[in-house]
Amino acid sequence: MTATARCGVILHPAGHTLSPVLHETAYRELELDASFEVFDVEPDALASTLCELGSAGVRQLAVSLPHKEAVIRLADRVAPAAHRIGAANTLTRTAHGFEAANTDWIGVVRTLEPLGPWSGRRALVLGAGGAARAVVHALRELGLHVGVANRTRERAEGLVRELGGEVVGLDAPHDLLVNATSVGMSSDATPLPRTLLRPGTTVFDLVYRPLETRLLREARAAGCRAQDGLDMLVYQAVEQVEIWSGRRPDSRALRRAAERAL
Ligand code: NAP
Repeated sequence: MTATARCGVILHPAGHTLSPVLHETAYRELELDASFEVFDVEPDALASTLCELGSAGVRQLAVSLPHKEAVIRLADRVAPAAHRIGAANTLTRTAHGFEAANTDWIGVVRTLEPLGPWSGRRALVLGAGGAARAVVHALRELGLHVGVANRTRERAEGLVRELGGEVVGLDAPHDLLVNATSVGMSSDATPLPRTLLRPGTTVFDLVYRPLETRLLREARAAGCRAQDGLDMLVYQAVEQVEIWSGRRPDSRALRRAAERAL
């Protein structure tokens, strides 16, 4: 008889996370014998906790804020995309120890692909944090020309130096606007004045709490196509489950479960 696969998420502070709902829904749907735990890990305790969880046979850890960059240094192996992005959201136990991967960028690609084609079009990315790095990598893989605007300009300059694209202002022309800042998360703030929204463009907000952010509301009103952040969250989890189990859960079931939990 095989043992139940232990999985979980590491984050700090614990707060509210949709990871358990997404992964437990996937395990049920695929009839996988697996459990999912939330580990509140302070940054100073990250290295020792990973050793303990590795020794305890934990199969996979989703990695959330603030650990996405630190796990790159601590993992036994790092997948090429995670290395390039400089952040990982997944640690999976292999014969060589924990392997770090980034499935956030794949979540971006899966979300945007059906709304394309994108090759040769222009994107304006707001933000230059960890999520923005995954977004820029994904958009360049999709063949878009990428402009990055961030409150702290030096951070945007560092991002484009490493991942490509150029630093631009909020008024840069674009076909696709991506909000990769935390503005709008649990608040009614917006990262872009509504006068800068352009009819006919696509507006993708990574924020998923609330699902309908002020940015998306104003985008619809301005004649833009609006895409919320929940599909990305679902797709990055689908990829995570597939990495350790070899099976792909149904993204629609995960989305329904996440919507109920929001
Ligand atoms: P992060 O590394 O902390 O970066 C935050 C970004 O937001 C930075 O660019 C920061 O600008 C900007 N920002 C924060 N407050 C701002 C303000 N008042 N005005 C203008 N800019 C502001 O966080 P992250 O990991 O990149 O996450 C960013 C957002 O993406 C979060 O809301 C997160 O929940 C969401 N996210 C969603 C998914 C998904 O699957 N849908 C996945 C990952 C992340 P500065 O550089 O100037 O500080």
